[in-house]
Amino acid sequence: HAKPNGPGTYLYFDAAMNRQAARSLQIHNELHHAMGLGALQVYYQPQIRIATGAVVGFEALLRWQHPTLGWISPAEFIPVAEQSGIIVQIGHWVMHTAATQAAQWLAQGHSGFRMAVNLSARQFAAKDLPKLVAQVLQDTGLPPEVLELEVTESMALQSVASTLSTLHACKALGVKLAMDDFGTGYSSLAYLKQYPLDALKIDQAFVRNITQDPGDAAITRAIVAMAHSFGMTVIAEGVETVEQLEFLRGLQCEEFQGYLFSKPVPADEAVKCFAGYRG
Ligand code: C2E
Ligand code: MG
Ligand code: MG
Ligand code: MG
Repeated sequence: HAKPNGPGTYLYFDAAMNRQAARSLQIHNELHHAMGLGALQVYYQPQIRIATGAVVGFEALLRWQHPTLGWISPAEFIPVAEQSGIIVQIGHWVMHTAATQAAQWLAQGHSGFRMAVNLSARQFAAKDLPKLVAQVLQDTGLPPEVLELEVTESMALQSVASTLSTLHACKALGVKLAMDDFGTGYSSLAYLKQYPLDALKIDQAFVRNITQDPGDAAITRAIVAMAHSFGMTVIAEGVETVEQLEFLRGLQCEEFQGYLFSKPVPADEAVKCFAGYRG
């Protein structure tokens, strides 16, 4: 921490900001290349049905191993990619890669699972999204109901009419739709009921303290009740302890995803997760 008003304060902040700006610029410049070099990888995190312990889904999550900067979190490079627009290409590549992987697991005899991919705001806003999704399904031979698209509340904010028509166009392809990070955004509940969503993912911010914080517990309980009244499944994100899992079970939350069972892992490790969760 720099001392307020102390000598060198501005210098400190200038240097820190310059480093940050330089890093963002480097990330921006190298992202395009990274995909071609195979430095971007897709990891998979299993989703478990709480009642049975069965693996019922995976979420595809981007990873970037940079030659000099090391491992860069998607929380850092996705916003950069979103700003530059390259997220559209990267996102399409993730969807294709994850769909190919899911089709391969099906061919190996695994069944009863979905493959979820995160959509960026730019992908969601693109007119040709339904066409691109249809193309991925056709190229990979993946049954549409196996693919799940994760959207966020911030996308829904842009325009309700266009959000609705995009969601319905995707739904018409037969894919599943989930609202990610639910509870952290600003979406109106009145609009939410119109969206053809299959699932709500409760943000890990609520799950983290669910057993200690009565407020977080109350919010989670309300989200589950509302989702169920709209016919949606609830997935809890960021479940790390047995106590959190048991609390969620008590709330009738159907599925969980979190380090308690597995971190996001490469495909060859993820496939072992089909054995399921045995408390
Ligand atoms: P998200 O979609 O909400 O993904 C869940 C995040 O929670 C992942 O972080 C996952 O590793 C982390 N997580 C899962 N279980 C636990 C847990 O038990 N404890 C804790 N502390 N964390 C847990 P990750 O992989 O770093 O991704 C961060 C975000 O980056 C994602 O949040 C998503 O918004 C974005 N992202 C990742 N891959 C993609 C992608 O292919 N496309 C787009 N548009 N965004 C992506
Ligand atoms: Mg997600
Ligand atoms: Mg999330
Ligand atoms: Mg998140």
